[in-house]
Amino acid sequence: MTLTPGTSAPPLLLIGRAILDMNMHRRHFLASPLAALPLRAARRPNILILLADDLGFADLGFQGSNEIPTPHLDTLARTGVRFTNGYVSHPFCSPTRAGLMTGRYQQRFGHENNPRYDPRDEVSGLPTDQITLAQLLKDAGYATGLFGKWHLGAAPRFHPMKRGFTETFSFLGGGHDYFETQLDGEPREYLIPIQRNGNPVALNEYLTDALSREAAAFIGRRREHPFLLYLAYNTPHTPLQPASKYLDRFAHIANERRRKYAAMVSALDDGVGRVLGALREAKLESDTLVFFLSDNGGPPEANASSNHPLRASKGTVYEGGIRVPFVARWPGVLEPGLYHHPVISLDLLPTALGAAGLKPPAVDGVDLLPHLTDKSPPPPHEKLFWRTGGGVSGAVRQGRFKLVRPPGGGPPQLFDLETDAGESNDLAAARSVLAVQLNAAWEQWNRQLVPPLF
Ligand code: CA
Repeated sequence: MTLTPGTSAPPLLLIGRAILDMNMHRRHFLASPLAALPLRAARRPNILILLADDLGFADLGFQGSNEIPTPHLDTLARTGVRFTNGYVSHPFCSPTRAGLMTGRYQQRFGHENNPRYDPRDEVSGLPTDQITLAQLLKDAGYATGLFGKWHLGAAPRFHPMKRGFTETFSFLGGGHDYFETQLDGEPREYLIPIQRNGNPVALNEYLTDALSREAAAFIGRRREHPFLLYLAYNTPHTPLQPASKYLDRFAHIANERRRKYAAMVSALDDGVGRVLGALREAKLESDTLVFFLSDNGGPPEANASSNHPLRASKGTVYEGGIRVPFVARWPGVLEPGLYHHPVISLDLLPTALGAAGLKPPAVDGVDLLPHLTDKSPPPPHEKLFWRTGGGVSGAVRQGRFKLVRPPGGGPPQLFDLETDAGESNDLAAARSVLAVQLNAAWEQWNRQLVPPLF
């Protein structure tokens, strides 16, 4: 193996591991013999995470929407692996982000609720003894950029620049006004200043466009070295504030709230197109592992999203709360297509580290690359688990079956998701042995968790 001239050299051990791993991932589907592969493995891949906020399951073209055109996201899905059973580890914002950033079920370290926005609150945030994906990749020499919503604590000790990010254009709270910030006084959560590398800056542009522009600029700036780019859009989370240029595209939608929501999804799609365009211009498409997903299911009553045909919405452990649009793309490594085994947002950390040739710490997520590149792989997960509110509700999925422990203490429900994605037919009585087994498995997992810290 020879290094590509002009690329900077990571530590030798990492080079060797990266080449070995990348070739392992490739050999299962490339028709050409291994020796004929182009020698571009000297560069560790960039990791690009595109996260939407409160996006409905049904509201993208590639998810079946005829109402909201999303050509850029559709192209991403068509050229990547689309996960038809892609989950997040929590049905709402902050706990999902805590799981994504650590690869661990966030209930293991008490991060089970949204932190209130209070810079003086030293408790409500991602516990600092938990190592983040950004820290791990930064330690391996990556440039690490956060653009958008943090929502993992507002006190200085929780700041993203203390959790592994070297560059930020972000806001610390759980959402933001799309047009305004308040630079002085004590603004409420949604008006806090955008921070560039920790310093307040004015917002002179529609927020979704600003995030896309900043992320694209980061790619241009960091093109020579491996980077982690975490682009955490707050769109289409409320408030429903589309820019008029997007709203104009949906004059045919009669319902005003749905029209505004569609416009915000359209802004998301334009933004993704801009960022992926920057990747293409930098000739980094083949050197970049891209993920796209939403942080939880849509809340139709809040933002007029649709999770059709799934049951319920954000906040619940029914499919409408936790099953999300989910894509991974890495040209030349991942063969485009559908992947049906359940995967979860916790898998991003070990998959990213595996792609970089780094050994992941012991986490709940798994490196998906071997599963995605082998012709007849086992499922990545035997079971997946969920818990909200310290035990208010819970769920476990095993294969095609899912047990739900509904809020309010009602009896557990059992669903066959292969025939009943809408979770309308409770099989708990008909399949009582399986229901008891899955409930016991959930309780065993639950005993490993701690009460919510905040
Ligand atoms: Ca959310």
